[in-house]
Amino acid sequence: MVSRVIPVDPFDLVIFGGTGDLARRKILPGLFRRFCSGQMPEEARITGAARSEMDDDAYRALVGEAIREFGGPRACDHGTLEAFLERVGYEQVDAMGEGGWSALKARMRPGCVRAFYFSVAPSLFGALAERLKGFGLADDDSRVVVEKPFGKDLASARALNLTLAQHFDETQIYRIDHYLGKETVQNLMAVRFGNVLFEPLWNAQFVDHIQITVAETVDVSGRGGYYDQSGAMRDMVQNHLMQLLCLIAMEPPARFEPDAVRDEKLKVIRALDPVDHHHIVRGQYAPDDNQPGYRAHVEDPRSRTESFVAMRCHISNWRWAGTPFYLRTGKMLRARTSEIAVVFKDAPHSIFGADAGRHRNVLAIRLQPNEGMTLDVTIKEPGPGGMRLVDVPLDMSFAEALGPEAEEVPDAYERLIMDVIRGNQTLFMRGDEVEAAWAWTDPIIEGWQTRGDVPKPYDAHSSGPEDALMLMHRDGRKWREIRT
Ligand code: NAD
Repeated sequence: MVSRVIPVDPFDLVIFGGTGDLARRKILPGLFRRFCSGQMPEEARITGAARSEMDDDAYRALVGEAIREFGGPRACDHGTLEAFLERVGYEQVDAMGEGGWSALKARMRPGCVRAFYFSVAPSLFGALAERLKGFGLADDDSRVVVEKPFGKDLASARALNLTLAQHFDETQIYRIDHYLGKETVQNLMAVRFGNVLFEPLWNAQFVDHIQITVAETVDVSGRGGYYDQSGAMRDMVQNHLMQLLCLIAMEPPARFEPDAVRDEKLKVIRALDPVDHHHIVRGQYAPDDNQPGYRAHVEDPRSRTESFVAMRCHISNWRWAGTPFYLRTGKMLRARTSEIAVVFKDAPHSIFGADAGRHRNVLAIRLQPNEGMTLDVTIKEPGPGGMRLVDVPLDMSFAEALGPEAEEVPDAYERLIMDVIRGNQTLFMRGDEVEAAWAWTDPIIEGWQTRGDVPKPYDAHSSGPEDALMLMHRDGRKWREIRT
């Protein structure tokens, strides 16, 4: 299989926060890999803009180091890295002041797509937007890329949307949720809407329930300050899990176009029922003999912030009435895995009798690790001795199916940045979507605060608190195992 790489138009990309962690780990290495693939045109220029004082050469050294660490195998190729670094420059800019803006403007070239990546704290977004317009760097075709978190509740998200809207049209604003840039997530749409096989079954009549799990093994040390103000609900559910839920549950858009897709996602969020607090379990990882617990990783020794959340939700529309969606995410869990599982109902009648046991088709979409899909199909257990049934997975690992080409599959950030340059907003969140997601999340968080809810402790490297298992068990269902 030969992958086609279509170069994007010449661009000037400014990364505000170009010396920061996200820029060094994700954005710059991602751009480098796109350069290696031939997608970045000769005339592309990348300018880091941040508070630190440094010249172009010092910044190139910083970028070179980041790429050697995070850029993948091609980073060892000195010539390729040097050629990339020739396209990189730096300007010291104060987001809150006047310094550096005229010099940054002087770097912008006519005729190139202009994109401004806000890889800085959200408190600086408004100041940056204002200065981009005020100093004449941004025109009507320029794009701004905004990182998460997009607000901490509905009021702050709305305020942020209003601030950005004072300076930029919605068609110019690219709110990143990097989950949407993952290959499997887009493949989910290809599977749903490119095959006749699944869509007729994709509804409450045939689907028993859907599970979405995003499990992490990391703790919150190093980012406890941010995390303790946020928690799993704000950090993961309101954005990533919600986006996955939308893609799995939405109606087929008429076309694969930005507003057609985003309109359908918005309808899903608006159709979500409020969640009864009996259907939510919050957890916090506990200390054990070998490691400190959550509270040792944050400032407040009595913190009630959740590092785990599991919940059952319902979508009130014709397609999904009566089909529960179970969401679960947490830190310090047994394995790092993200998976969506569509669990189909039993066959309406078993001709094989009770001995054949209960068998269900499950379509599991793995986002990480080993992106791919499996479909559990029931077959006869081989050999004599009657009709015993067994479930076997039809396994499609992208790495195996695509061979060496899979190595070349761009990671989420690099794909999304190229979409910004192409002016394609399909995989970015629209302002009203983000607000609707907060409108659904806010009452849940407020309920915890009002009731003084204390998260349940759970063991490190486990599947979360016992109550989360019970959440499913009570419904006669079971979570899929968290494993790599
Ligand atoms: P960081 O603290 O490592 O870097 C912040 C950057 O902002 C630095 O380059 C700094 O020089 C610059 N900066 C700060 N004040 C400035 C000012 N007044 N004027 C100009 N530049 C200024 O932060 P980070 O981890 O890179 O995160 C950046 C953004 O991305 C944040 O909004 C964060 O929430 C978001 N984010 C980060 C990650 C991650 O993995 N690091 C993941 C998702 C989202």
